[in-house]
Amino acid sequence: MPEQNAGSTAETPPRRATTFDDLPLHPRLRRGVKEMGYLEPTDIQRDTIPAAVGGRDLIGTAQTGTGKTAAFLLPLLERLLGGPRGRIRALVVTPTRELALQAQEFLKVLGRHADLRSIAVYGGVGMIDQERALRGGVEIVVATPGRLLDHMRRGYVDFRELQVLVLDEADRMLDMGFLPDVRRILASLPRRRQTLLFSATMPKEVIQLAREFLTDPKTVQVGETTAAAVGVSHLALPVPAHRKSDLLKALLEDATMTSVLVFTRTKHRADRVARQLSDGRIDVGVIHGNRSQSQRVTALTKFREGRHRVLVATDLAARGIDVEGVSHVVNYDLPEVPEAYIHRVGRTARASRRGDAFSLVSPDEENDLRAIERHLNVTIPRARLPGFDYDRAAPPAPAGGRREPRSRPTGRGRSYPPRGGGYRRR
Ligand code: AMP
Repeated sequence: MPEQNAGSTAETPPRRATTFDDLPLHPRLRRGVKEMGYLEPTDIQRDTIPAAVGGRDLIGTAQTGTGKTAAFLLPLLERLLGGPRGRIRALVVTPTRELALQAQEFLKVLGRHADLRSIAVYGGVGMIDQERALRGGVEIVVATPGRLLDHMRRGYVDFRELQVLVLDEADRMLDMGFLPDVRRILASLPRRRQTLLFSATMPKEVIQLAREFLTDPKTVQVGETTAAAVGVSHLALPVPAHRKSDLLKALLEDATMTSVLVFTRTKHRADRVARQLSDGRIDVGVIHGNRSQSQRVTALTKFREGRHRVLVATDLAARGIDVEGVSHVVNYDLPEVPEAYIHRVGRTARASRRGDAFSLVSPDEENDLRAIERHLNVTIPRARLPGFDYDRAAPPAPAGGRREPRSRPTGRGRSYPPRGGGYRRR
């Protein structure tokens, strides 16, 4: 493990002991909760479920890893239990198909005894099966915005009886340019309905959306909106760009890194890192926007089942990945925006389990690291991996070819290694 220059790990404060039995949930749903393996509600579930079951609009500021999915699915199921079947009465809009699939998987277990049907509607696969299911009568639709609009335009999606709308990861929908689509969807939904909006951060566009489309919402906030998941310990490992791949391999010699998500900035770099790891005989999968849906599902399944020890991903592809027991997140490249750092490290320490997040920081990424520190209001300790040869020169570029590309095209920043040696905590 890297030697840390200085460290700080957040402690989870003791919580009041509320059980699921104290929450206003039908015994049929509590059975689902039990089968999901949940022993007691998370903070967001404690705060959200009573208000949402009571029918109130709600804004939940919570990132992935807090148990937010069950926090909106359980009240949604509770509210639908008593009413008619065969009509769409709840809609969950998520930014990615992975999130949509995750929500639907949760619905299958949590709602197993509720006699409610759900369908996940997302792009990248044929429309026919989805159309058939939509026509066939389901009570819950989980959808990504673009594909849902495609179906809506064809005229067979009937939202007249919609009671509950959930907008999940609204900030991400904004980042991905989906807000216009979301507005279009919202415009064609009945005005009398309950709306639950979840977002890890609250940019002004999301606040504006909430103002327009929610009525007297209760606000539920879990932790600081800028705080990365509690329980994650963060380390930055400064390294020259051309030594990143060897440093990653050296880190992976540690047997405690059992299930590792590696993030790169581009699809190209994701492929390259995956290739380098598999050359080093490490079981690795890769997911990014150029991979087909079935390739992504296969890679995710193998990672989930432990057949891939490492999954290399870009930010968009990794959105919504829900894998139990991710031991480490490695930022092979720092993300372009600090918010993405929170989303990435939220993959580990899910629901308060402890995890580690390592960032490999080349000299030209120092400014990005500082931006993340400012955003999180923390100092991320710098560390060095003992015994690793940081100073080995870059291999000569192949004739006419390129060396390992920089993590960003413009070379700015400081020389490496920094004068004075070592890495000090700021
Ligand atoms: P989410 O924030 O919804 O992505 O959930 C993160 C992870 O926490 C998922 O693996 C959930 O299955 C898990 N989880 C959600 N609620 C609970 C709970 N009450 N107890 C234990 N794990 C939970």
